[in-house]
Amino acid sequence: MKNEMTCEEVQKNIPKFIDTRMDSRDSLAFIRHIEHCKTCMEELSVEYLVVVGVKRLDSASAFNLNQELEELMYKNERKAKNRQQISLIIFFIAILLAVVGGYFLSKMILGY
Ligand SMILES: [Zn+2]
Repeated sequence: MKNEMTCEEVQKNIPKFIDTRMDSRDSLAFIRHIEHCKTCMEELSVEYLVVVGVKRLDSASAFNLNQELEELMYKNERKAKNRQQISLIIFFIAILLAVVGGYFLSKMILGY
């Protein structure tokens, strides 16, 4: 998906976000949008309240929704960033292997 999301895309992806099932690029775009769009932020709060609230109906424990929502944002952001870092590391290892491999290959072929 692209780097920016429309309100429609964000709102369609809210259930995925709540379940932290979104892929890394999407969740970063999602968070970036939410941070600047009050409408979508409200939509997320409402859906989160419904999903989590329904799950908690039988448990008597009190819960702080805003804090939990913040933790959810943080969790999704961390997850996305970790995955991006891992692909970056793999990318550098691949380049390193290509350079080292090329070096030894040229040594073999040219006989230096
Ligand atoms: Zn929006």
